[in-house]
Amino acid sequence: MGTYGQRGAGGQGKVARGRLPAKYSALGLVRRGAAHTPWPRSWRAHELGSRYDAVIVGAGVHGLATAYYLAANHGITNVAVLDQSYLGGGGSGRNTAILRANYLTPEGVRFYDRSVTLYESLASTLNFNVMFSQRGHLTLAHNDASMRTMRWRAEVNKLEGVDSEVIGPDEVRRLAPYLDVSAHTRYPILGALYHPPGGIIRHDAVNWGYARAADALGVQIHQNTRVLGIDVEHGRVTAVRTTRGTVSTPVVINCTAGWATTISDLAGVQLPITTHPLQAAVTEPVKVFLRTVVVSGSLHVYVSQTDRGELVFGASVDPYPSYSMRGSLEFIEEVASHVLELMPAIAKLRVLRQWAGLCDMTPDYSPIMGVTPVDGFLVDVGWGTYGFKAGPVSGEAMAELVATGKTPELISPFALSRFDSGDLVGEKGAAAVGH
Ligand SMILES: Cc1cc2nc3c(=O)[nH]c(=O)nc-3n(C[C@H](O)[C@H](O)[C@H](O)COP(=O)(O)OP(=O)(O)OC[C@H]3O[C@@H](n4cnc5c(N)ncnc54)[C@H](O)[C@@H]3O)c2cc1C
Repeated sequence: MGTYGQRGAGGQGKVARGRLPAKYSALGLVRRGAAHTPWPRSWRAHELGSRYDAVIVGAGVHGLATAYYLAANHGITNVAVLDQSYLGGGGSGRNTAILRANYLTPEGVRFYDRSVTLYESLASTLNFNVMFSQRGHLTLAHNDASMRTMRWRAEVNKLEGVDSEVIGPDEVRRLAPYLDVSAHTRYPILGALYHPPGGIIRHDAVNWGYARAADALGVQIHQNTRVLGIDVEHGRVTAVRTTRGTVSTPVVINCTAGWATTISDLAGVQLPITTHPLQAAVTEPVKVFLRTVVVSGSLHVYVSQTDRGELVFGASVDPYPSYSMRGSLEFIEEVASHVLELMPAIAKLRVLRQWAGLCDMTPDYSPIMGVTPVDGFLVDVGWGTYGFKAGPVSGEAMAELVATGKTPELISPFALSRFDSGDLVGEKGAAAVGH
């Protein structure tokens, strides 16, 4: 591959930043408040053009980050991001916003660690407060087999320079005092994998920040523009057909997560992905008492507390493939009973809301990124229940692939071809519930 590799005016590395519609600052806030001047729109609407250097399908964090890094790092700005609905309306606006790098395989740890690093400076990169709170992440172990997996993960993490360690029940109690760490529970807590750099972020702010910065650099974001077809001639992509007309392009990047196979099918590329709903729920806000993210793989549940005080609960995917985004009674009953096993003290908290999104599950719980048998048709999919944290690194790597025509080393283990060669990157032990 490489025939579509295209260097922008700036080539590799940072190019001069475009002008943001308005730089957000305390002074700006005071000035606009005093003068009653509203803030300008964060991104503009456009007529659909007839030709783009690259078309990105999906305006979630992956599509928007890819567009941003294409423009910012490579000077490629004649780019359209198309979404059938509103920006961030897929998983990127529905997730529970947990970020971490404590995966199981060296390939996974290296990859997600780069994303955490990019997230750490994202607020200043985008001039947008993304509220990344690195409050620590605990994965509980309730039996000997889980303790073994936690030790394994801790060792792989340390070898890759990622801060993780196995801690005992006393330390768990110190970090999360409301967890029941007594020996007499149905699922006693024997220890946990503690990962201090993990935490939560404001997911909408990340989506909006990337969209605003990409727009400022010249990228066009087209909401309510559904992709209906992808034209392939002599084995390479030539055009994308949409509800608003046809655009010609040599590069299409599929960033549609839960809808990944529906888009790849249009290009004639088969993906080993099944789509499952994933649900989450949030309680009424209470005074902050839970400072870390707590995950229990055995109980299929995780919980964190937002800065506003709400508890956010999640679980593993619904056990059947579906494109439904409706919440179910089974989910909320199960989550409530499992959370109460861990924290009986919150029995009186009321659940305010539950919702669902779509997850694109792969056989090895790792993403599928890079080239496909159709020249110019690239994929950044297979994000399952854990893809929000990978937005920045994926965008950076996919942009480099488009600009140079070469697959960056960091994402080469995630190639589609691994399902032919059998070189799977098995992450189930760290990705099935952990998010
Ligand atoms: C309840 C829940 C909790 C989660 N929690 C976490 C978490 O804590 N941490 C984490 O890292 N990840 C989490 N995830 C996973 C994460 O949300 C996703 O992996 C990630 O957001 C995928 O981002 P994306 O940009 O690839 O896709 P999405 O954000 O899903 O965007 C895909 C877009 O493609 C568009 N699209 C689809 N078909 C078409 C078409 N034909 N034409 C045009 N546009 C189309 C859709 O409208 C959508 O906007 C969670 C997911 C859910 C549902």
